[in-house]
Amino acid sequence: MDTKFHKDFKSCPACGSTNRFFESMANELKDRGVVRKEWAFYLDIKQGVVMDKVKEQRLIIGSQVPAYTYATDICMDCGCVYAMFIERSNATKSIEPATNMPGPPLGQVIRSS
Ligand SMILES: [Zn+2]
Repeated sequence: MDTKFHKDFKSCPACGSTNRFFESMANELKDRGVVRKEWAFYLDIKQGVVMDKVKEQRLIIGSQVPAYTYATDICMDCGCVYAMFIERSNATKSIEPATNMPGPPLGQVIRSS
């Protein structure tokens, strides 16, 4: 698989509608000018790596493994939950930080486009 794989899904796979519940609410705020145009809001967004936790210790620092990101929304016409995009990248094993910094709240992400 291409290590920079990215695919957007513009419409509902069940009914073809382009009306999305969370995207519509985010657009209301964009129209009012109270959020940035590049700001996005999803039902859910997940990021992770594909790794066997039992074997992870054997990976040397600097090794790369496949990483994924996907975001979902709900079709406003039929209720289908579907992926808005799926993305593959590479994650590099590094030394674990002493503390984990808190990330953005679930469902929110700033995308550069
Ligand atoms: Zn639908």
